[in-house]
Amino acid sequence: CGITARVGRGDAVDELLTGLENLEYRGYDSAGVAVRNGHGLSVHKREGKIDRLKDRIERSPPSGSMGIGHTRWSTHGPPTDENAHPHTDCTEEIAVVHNGIIENHEALKADLRERGHRFESDTDTEVIPHLLEEHVDRGLALDIAFRRMATQLQGSYAIAAMTADGDAVYATRQGSPLVLGIDEDCHYLASDVPAFLEFTDRVVYLEDGDVVSITEDGYEIVDADGRPLDREVRTVDWVA
Ligand code: GLU
Repeated sequence: CGITARVGRGDAVDELLTGLENLEYRGYDSAGVAVRNGHGLSVHKREGKIDRLKDRIERSPPSGSMGIGHTRWSTHGPPTDENAHPHTDCTEEIAVVHNGIIENHEALKADLRERGHRFESDTDTEVIPHLLEEHVDRGLALDIAFRRMATQLQGSYAIAAMTADGDAVYATRQGSPLVLGIDEDCHYLASDVPAFLEFTDRVVYLEDGDVVSITEDGYEIVDADGRPLDREVRTVDWVA
């Protein structure tokens, strides 16, 4: 299973799919991508091999420079198109990919249902976009909303989220791997370096609790309270 994210000059979808293929060795049963297309989010997801997702995408390729991708290894809910990631909120303006397990998802889901949220999948993951939606609806900026949401989760996770109108992808990790890839006019996130190694060899290995945001022009890593963190940029010397 794996996650990918990409923000930068040029089109996102091919690089996201390449990233997912480069993570195939981690195992998966479903795959999906979300791309910000200028009007909203295009979400494509399928149970099965990445080739099935590609077939679906080739019929109406989403165009946009920012996106997130996922290969799923089901833990909560069978491998189906509905349970594949990305998952969205009620308004479909927030998309999320997640590796790992949200241990307290049942309690969070019950609370969210009481407050009017409806769920379309059996996954633990789907609580995440709905929690983000609540914070954004209360007027919080996405960076603060994202950090607030992370404090509500128990379990192990790597998560990446984006919105239809923002210019950044936000991500964090707790017990699941997450690396940042840095190129001149493009930034990447992934579960492992091979996902983006053919695009850049400059990487930051993120630590548990780090919250990272990437845009076309740069990246920022902060702690749970939003304080900036300095993390070493390394050059990977493996052969791509
Ligand atoms: N727990 C999530 C699910 O079942 C994510 C699984 C994964 O790590 O791919 O959908």
